[in-house]
Amino acid sequence: MQNGTIGVTTENIFPIIKKFLYSDHEIFLREIISNAIDATQKLKTLASSGEFKGELGDLTIRVALEKDKLIITDHGIGMTAEEMDKYLNQIAFSSADEFIRKYKDQNIIGHFGLGFYSAFMVSKKVEVRSLSYREGAKSVKWICDGSPEYRMEDSDKADRGTEIILHIDDESKEFLEEQRIEGLLRKYCRYLPVEIAFGKEKEWKDGKEVETGKDRIINDVSPLWTRKPADLKDEDYMKFYRDLYPMQEDPMFYIHLNVDYPFNLTGILYFPKIKSNIEFQKNRIQLYCNQVYVTDSVEGIVPDFLTLLHGVIDSPDIPLNVSRSYLQSDSNVKKISSHITKKVADRLEEIFKKDRPEFEKKWDNLKLFIEYGMISEEKFAERTEKFILLKNTDNRYFTLDEYHQLVKGEQTDKDRKTVYLYATDVQAQYSFIEAAKAKGYDVLSLDGQLDIHFINYLESKNSDVHYARVDSDVVDRLIQKDGHIASALPQAEQDDMREIFEPLMPSSAGHFFVTCESMGERAQPMIITQAEFMRRMKDMSALGGGGGMNFYGQMPDSFNLAVNTDHPLVKKVIAEKNGDLGEQLKAIAGELEPVSTELNVLKEQIKGKKEEEIDQAQKDRRDELEKKEDGIRNNKKNVLAEYGKTSQLARQLVDLALLANNMLKGEELNKFIHRSVDIIK
Ligand code: ADP
Repeated sequence: MQNGTIGVTTENIFPIIKKFLYSDHEIFLREIISNAIDATQKLKTLASSGEFKGELGDLTIRVALEKDKLIITDHGIGMTAEEMDKYLNQIAFSSADEFIRKYKDQNIIGHFGLGFYSAFMVSKKVEVRSLSYREGAKSVKWICDGSPEYRMEDSDKADRGTEIILHIDDESKEFLEEQRIEGLLRKYCRYLPVEIAFGKEKEWKDGKEVETGKDRIINDVSPLWTRKPADLKDEDYMKFYRDLYPMQEDPMFYIHLNVDYPFNLTGILYFPKIKSNIEFQKNRIQLYCNQVYVTDSVEGIVPDFLTLLHGVIDSPDIPLNVSRSYLQSDSNVKKISSHITKKVADRLEEIFKKDRPEFEKKWDNLKLFIEYGMISEEKFAERTEKFILLKNTDNRYFTLDEYHQLVKGEQTDKDRKTVYLYATDVQAQYSFIEAAKAKGYDVLSLDGQLDIHFINYLESKNSDVHYARVDSDVVDRLIQKDGHIASALPQAEQDDMREIFEPLMPSSAGHFFVTCESMGERAQPMIITQAEFMRRMKDMSALGGGGGMNFYGQMPDSFNLAVNTDHPLVKKVIAEKNGDLGEQLKAIAGELEPVSTELNVLKEQIKGKKEEEIDQAQKDRRDELEKKEDGIRNNKKNVLAEYGKTSQLARQLVDLALLANNMLKGEELNKFIHRSVDIIK
């Protein structure tokens, strides 16, 4: 028997261990089982090199609960008394001590390295009983109650291997619950390379669930990612996916990663069906280190956009017990990250080349992921730009090149920019889409979450292409070819139209600018549009573009109402107005004319003079005339506004334009319906 004080330094390391990483106490089980796995693997290595000649026997690692004890048993190499002294009393302790000093204040990923001593986070006493594989070894026992003193003595352990007995302390009673341990085994040990038994298999007998004599093995010792891709079928990958993420819809496809130079990495990544939302990812990529589960927060190890993928990555080359900021600058991690990015792009290209119809079918689900990747990772964008797709409103798919070929003839404007027209909502923007198609244009369907950001990105890459939403202007001006045809209507009549229609627009929707256009007899009488730039900024601010974007989000909406002065109904409004108000407007014009003439003459006289150089009498007269002119104009404005309100035709035309844009709502819509019924009655 040997009594002693555990090596090295501080007296108070145990309290620190107990408190350390409070929320992560559960990792003790992973650490203890990892040691058991190592001991077993070492024995296998010794057996295959011939150094160990005995029977390997049953190598299953067993986890058992017994009253207030949790017991982990392996049949690995075991330890002699000297080894125990060396590894548990000196090395393990010193490494625990060092680990704590080094990482106490850091944000730790993986938490590897605390090792055997993490047992004291949950135990008031730890016993280790071991029999080494070495010939003639004697079995030994090591006991420590969490103070720096330990005791070592002979033991009666008869079979090879190590048994770790944890006397769970009062605050850690949760670790005596079968459910809790089972949960931890599933989380950390599911894919460990040596069989781990916990309890017995159960079966139904006479309507009751009873234990059988068979060990219940909780892990899969050769998970899919460790196997050769050539030996595996699609079904195997799908089954493994369902093991990882029960209840999830099947993924679209997968990538089996297998790298051994310049770093080691294996894994399987799956492309889930990403619907329109970047929802909180509860199913995440899991990171393993030699089949030991480490974490499911892989930020920093894989580029951000790849965290949308599912699956596993296993690498012994990722430094696990370091802070995240360190991780991001680690050169191995950088290599891993860019390698995975490349593999993902390669795989996408392969599918595109091998089976384009299949790729098109998956595109809508893939799009968000690829757009996110292209916007955020230059390298990924370089690899994918050749085969990303644009979908038009007829559900046809084109690569960027193909699309350019398709539209450049018809849709290049006078400044040699090719304008790609798009709709964000095929139903809501239907009439605009039809108008554009009637002109021989093609319209893209861009209804994805990131599409607006994405077209900004594409425009920044190719300044020859400009994107315009199909309702951002009247069709003749969407793609300006050789200057647009101004309305043939005299300016005074155009002004009257503005005065009539502006007050009819719903101010609650935003501000409307009324213009007169010659759009041809067959175009609609009026069209409401919203300028591309403004709308895009607003869309982006709604998506949380941040920074300056919020400014646009708070601006009131502004729209254009284009009045088509070629349309017979608009002509009718003009004619009716002239019939009903002709005399009155003429009188107002007669009143205005001498005032304006005198004012103009006066202004001519004082032109170029500074305010203080002007004669006081002239000043007074000018102010008087201006006031008079304003008064007459206001009067005219009121007359036209009042008239507009009484014109059923004007009102009906405005409502139809609003309706075409989904902007006629509530009471106004109701009135419109009643009015329409009256008209056709
Ligand atoms: P690490 O595993 O990182 O080396 P630990 O503190 O977990 O550090 O363990 C210290 C040493 O104790 C191990 O390296 C190993 O030599 C020995 N050891 C621990 N558990 C076992 C076991 N179950 N069987 C044999 N040796 C063990």
